[in-house]
Amino acid sequence: MAILARNLFIFFIFTIFSGGCYLIWTIEHRLPERTYSEFRYCLSHHDISDMSFTGNRVVISHRAGETDSSPGFTYITTVPNPEELIAELKDKDIRIIFNKDRSEIILQGLALFYIVLLIIVIVLSLSRIKKEEQESKFATDKLIMPNDGHKVVTFKDVAGIPEALEELEEIVVFLKNPAQFSQVGATIPKGVLLQGPPGTGKTLLARAIAGEAGVPFYSFSGSDFVEMFVGVGASRVRDLFKEAKKNAPCIVFIDEIDAVGGSRSGGASASGSDERSQTLNALLVEMDGFGSTDNIIVLAATNRPDILDSALRRPGRFDRQVNILPPDINGRLNILQIHGAKIKMVSDIDLHQIAQMCPGFTGAELANLVNEAALMAARSGKKAVDFTDFELARDRILMGVERKGMIMTEKDRTILAYHEAGHAIIAKSLPDADPLHKITIIPRGRALGQTQQLALIDRHAYSYIYLKNRITILMGGRAAEDLAFNQRSTGAQGDILQATEIATNMICKWGMNETMGPQAFIIDDSGFLGGSSQRLSMANETAKTIDHEIKTLLTTCYENAVTILSQKFYLLKSLAGALLQVETLDNEEFDMILACTENKKTNSRHSDESDCTICPASQSCIHSKIKKISPCIL
Ligand code: ADP
Ligand code: ZN
Repeated sequence: MAILARNLFIFFIFTIFSGGCYLIWTIEHRLPERTYSEFRYCLSHHDISDMSFTGNRVVISHRAGETDSSPGFTYITTVPNPEELIAELKDKDIRIIFNKDRSEIILQGLALFYIVLLIIVIVLSLSRIKKEEQESKFATDKLIMPNDGHKVVTFKDVAGIPEALEELEEIVVFLKNPAQFSQVGATIPKGVLLQGPPGTGKTLLARAIAGEAGVPFYSFSGSDFVEMFVGVGASRVRDLFKEAKKNAPCIVFIDEIDAVGGSRSGGASASGSDERSQTLNALLVEMDGFGSTDNIIVLAATNRPDILDSALRRPGRFDRQVNILPPDINGRLNILQIHGAKIKMVSDIDLHQIAQMCPGFTGAELANLVNEAALMAARSGKKAVDFTDFELARDRILMGVERKGMIMTEKDRTILAYHEAGHAIIAKSLPDADPLHKITIIPRGRALGQTQQLALIDRHAYSYIYLKNRITILMGGRAAEDLAFNQRSTGAQGDILQATEIATNMICKWGMNETMGPQAFIIDDSGFLGGSSQRLSMANETAKTIDHEIKTLLTTCYENAVTILSQKFYLLKSLAGALLQVETLDNEEFDMILACTENKKTNSRHSDESDCTICPASQSCIHSKIKKISPCIL
C-alpha cells in the first residue's frame, strides 16, 4: 500500500507542477487586454493590419506607422457584436481571420490525459504490490520456524550416516553461537553441498541441523525457481535472501540444486538454459554477497553432483561437500529401530536379520519397508508386526506385488520350478557364495520366480571367485531347463543379461582376465544413479579378443553349472517337485530335501514314505510346508 500512496503522491505533484507551468506559460504569452472603446479609437486613428476572431474575442494587430514611426503592436479585446463589426470593416484594408474556439477542446483533452495517467499509476502500483506480496509469500511459504508446531527433527532421527553428522555438527555449533567463531576470526562455510543417491536422508539431515540449532529453516526445491519466464527465478532468489537475512541466523535448503545449478556449458535449449543460468547467477551473486556475519547457511542437496556447474564449488560458495551414501548393515539396523519405534512390533523381532535382508536399501526405502510391513500386518488382522510381514513387505518392494491370478500352464510352471531349483542347487554347492534364503515360483512383478540369497555381510569388494560363482549361479536356471527338458526358454533372459554384464566388467573394468591384463576397456559415466558404460576406443583385434574372453568365461561357467546339476539331477528333480507343490521353500526346507534325497540314494530301502528319517510324512512334522509335500518326491 505504501507504494500506491507514494505513486499517487508523485502523480499529484506532477499534476500540480505541470498545471502550474501551463498557467505561467499562458500568463507570459497573454496579450494585453484593451477595452472596446479603446479599440474603436484605434480603428479610427491607427492603421490596423489584422483582426483574428475567436468567438467574440479578437486579436488586433497594428502596422508600424509609416509616417509617425510608431511601432506595430498587438492586443486583445472583446467585441459585443462581431457580425456588425465585420460588416462595418468591409471597406477597410484589414485582413480578417476566423478561428474556431479550441480552448474547451484543449481543456477536455488535458483532463482526459490526467485521468488516463491516474488510472495507469493506480494499476501499475497495484500490480507491483501484488507481485511483491507473492514474492515474499514465495519465501515465507517455505519457511519453517523453530517453534511453529512442526515436529522438530533432530540428529536422533537420523541414523546410518555418522560421518556426515560429524561433519555437520560444527555448523550447528556455529548457528547456536556465531560469536564464538567470529571472536577468533574463524569463518564458517557459507554453503554445504549434500550429495548422495535419492532417499539417503539429505532433506532429513538439513532439517535436523535446523532442529538442533533451533533456527528458522527455508526449504526449496531447485525446480521452484525455474519458471517459464526468464528472470522470475533470479528475482525469487534475490527475494529469498532478502527474507532470509531478516530471519538470520537461519538455514536455506535447496533440494535438487541440479535443476538450477546444472552445468551451463551443457548446451540445453536456448530459452530454458537462459533462465536457468540467470537463476544460477543470481544465486552465486547472493552467496558471494553475504558475509559470514549474515549468519545464513545455505545447504543444497543433489543426486547428480557430476552435472553441477563448477562455479558452484568455488570458495565462498558450496566449498564444503558432504557425501551421503546408503547405510551399511549397522546403519540399516539403526534406521529400522528409529522407524520401527513408530509401529507396534512383536517383542522378539530380529531387526538385525531384517537389516541383513535389505542390502543396499536407503533410509527412505527402509522407512517404506517398515510402513509396508505394518500394512501387511494390518491387512491380515494381526495385533503386532512380525518377521513374516517384513519379509513379505521386502519382496513386495523389491519385486512388486504377487501375481496370484496369473495363469501358467502346468508345463511352464514345471520348467520354472526346474529353473529356480537349478539356481538354488548351484548356489548351495559353490563355496564363497551368499547363503540361500528363499526359492519361490510365485510370480511377482516382472519376475516369474526367484531364488534369493542373503549376504551376511555388506560386500564392498568382490573377489574373482565370488564373481565367477555368481555367473555360474545365474547360469543354473538355463542349465536346469536344458538338462531336464533339452530345451531353452525365455525365462533365462534376465539371468543371461546379468551374467554378461558381470563377465564384461570382470574383463573390461576390473582387470581380472589373464589375456587382457590389468587394463580398463570401458569407462563409466559416473553418478549415483549409475550412468551408462562405454567401451573406450581400441584396435579391432583387441575388441575381438575381449569378445572372445567374455564368451569363454560365460560358457565355462555355463558348462560348470551343467556339470554340477547333472551330478545332482536327482536332487534337482526332487526340489522342482517340491516347489511345484508348495511354491516357496526356504533354506531349512532345502536342507531337509537335500538330506532326504541323499538318504534315499544311499539307502535303497528307502522307497516307502514312512521310511524317510528326516521328514516321515507324518502330521507331526514341525515344518508346516514340508508336511504338505507328498513323500513320494522325497
Ligand atoms: P533425500 O532428501 O536424500 O532424497 P529424504 O531426506 O527425503 O531423502 O528421506 C526421505 C525419508 O526417508 C525421510 O523422511 C526419513 O523418514 C527416511 N530416511 C532417509 N534417510 C534416513 C536416515 N538416514 N535415517 C532415518 N530416516 C531416514
Ligand atoms: Zn533365473
